[in-house]
Amino acid sequence: FPVILWFRQDLRLQDNPAYHAALESGSPILPVFILDDDNAGLWKRGAASRWWLYHSLSSLNKSLNGTLAIFRGDATKIIPELVEAACAHAVFWNRCYEPWRIARDSKIKTALEQSSIAVKSSNASLLYEPWTVSKDDGTPYKVFTPFFRKGCLGRGEPPVPLGLPHHVPTFFPRLKQSLHIDDLDLLPSIKWDKGFHDIWTPGEHGARERLGQFLDHGLKGYKEGRNHPDRENVSRLSPHLHFGEISPRTAWHAVRHAMEADPTIETDGDCFLSELGWREFSYSLLYTHPDLPTQPLQHKFAGFPWDKNDKALRAWQMGKTGYPIVDAGMRQLWQTGWMHNRVRMIVASFLIKDLMLPWTAGEEWFWDTLVDADLANNAASWQWVAGCGADAAPYFRIFNPVTQGTKFDPDGNYIRTFVPELAALPAKYIHEPWTAPANVLKQAGVEMGKTYPMPIVDHKAARDHALAVFKGL
Ligand code: FAD
Repeated sequence: FPVILWFRQDLRLQDNPAYHAALESGSPILPVFILDDDNAGLWKRGAASRWWLYHSLSSLNKSLNGTLAIFRGDATKIIPELVEAACAHAVFWNRCYEPWRIARDSKIKTALEQSSIAVKSSNASLLYEPWTVSKDDGTPYKVFTPFFRKGCLGRGEPPVPLGLPHHVPTFFPRLKQSLHIDDLDLLPSIKWDKGFHDIWTPGEHGARERLGQFLDHGLKGYKEGRNHPDRENVSRLSPHLHFGEISPRTAWHAVRHAMEADPTIETDGDCFLSELGWREFSYSLLYTHPDLPTQPLQHKFAGFPWDKNDKALRAWQMGKTGYPIVDAGMRQLWQTGWMHNRVRMIVASFLIKDLMLPWTAGEEWFWDTLVDADLANNAASWQWVAGCGADAAPYFRIFNPVTQGTKFDPDGNYIRTFVPELAALPAKYIHEPWTAPANVLKQAGVEMGKTYPMPIVDHKAARDHALAVFKGL
């Protein structure tokens, strides 16, 4: 009789504890994936994530010799049905931490155990699971540094990744009722995904290659370079980590090894490890505050007088605000499904503080357009920028889009890539094209208000207004 191995956000075979446990059972393995939009509620995967999922599942299915059984629907019904259809005696999975997944999984676990079916769950996605990290008095941390330094690292280094399994898998034949990946309708009907293919290779192999590239070319200089969107210092591992194509343990220990081999990159390595720590912090916040994606952590923000302005929201979404660094970021997101972290902070600050639009509007747009859309990281980061989250940026920290651009994209290379209509402007004017003399604009082929929009708000006035409103809380 087989065991079911239920893949969820762990689309890999290496360092996959559920896969190891299934192998050790000695039974044939029935690998399963379920697209469960029924239980996801508000947080059904967005369009960009679906694109990624399609390719990641294709890659996983290949590694499993085409045996991945695919289903769509309510997992609380499908898993018990599969157990019965295949006469499985156990189900293995790796734990997920989104509130809706926790509720669903515990329901399934209870039902299976009542039918004497063994359930074994493991940790594949986090370095330290949320319930293992708390303050001395047992309450959860609210500030990142003690969370990471004392709560996480105080418990010792994260475990090393599992080695390759000793057992050779025997796969149970694919069930006839199983769907084909194409039946999940994950790919867009309008082909907006060309730019995605150019830069991403979803799947376990692509994830390992990405980590290798980062170790060879990005890690040295990461601490400084990670702030510059035109540099190649960041890892771009976020979608691979989100879908579990690589484990955070693998990334952690690979960077540790690199630091041991080259002591000059110690501060760069430490900085990268602490970013993995921020990911842990987000998961801890989501676990302890299940309404993190919809409710401000600081209650005083609950009745905040946000504006409603569909035109401004649309201009932001389309990258047509008239602020080049904001527009470049929003177009990078649209074209590639990803945005550099520094620019995510700039565009988020612009939406919340210059346009006074609710952070949840930005969170929803990111949810639909990011290939790394992640409930914990997305919600915690939006709340952080809005100033209503845990350990958040104070409300008076309002990014000036011009100064941010000049500081972190001084030559304007990032803007030239994503806002081609400004590409011919000299660096001196590229961050505030409306200040360029008429002859410079003409020479660069820019017609303000026609080929490129005038700023949709005046930053200084918007900043003063935001400060006054935030102060009134
Ligand atoms: P690297 O700099 O190479 O970092 C390595 C890994 O550490 C990342 O892959 C990520 O898993 C983690 N990490 C890095 N920075 C952060 C951070 N600030 N918070 C939490 N984890 C972090 N990240 C997501 O994965 N999904 C999201 O939906 C998401 N939404 C965001 C929304 C906003 C408004 C902001 C400001 C940030 C958001 N982030 C999100 C966090 C961060 O921007 C991305 O994780 C990062 O840009 C991914 O690029 P990278 O893999 O090259 O990062």
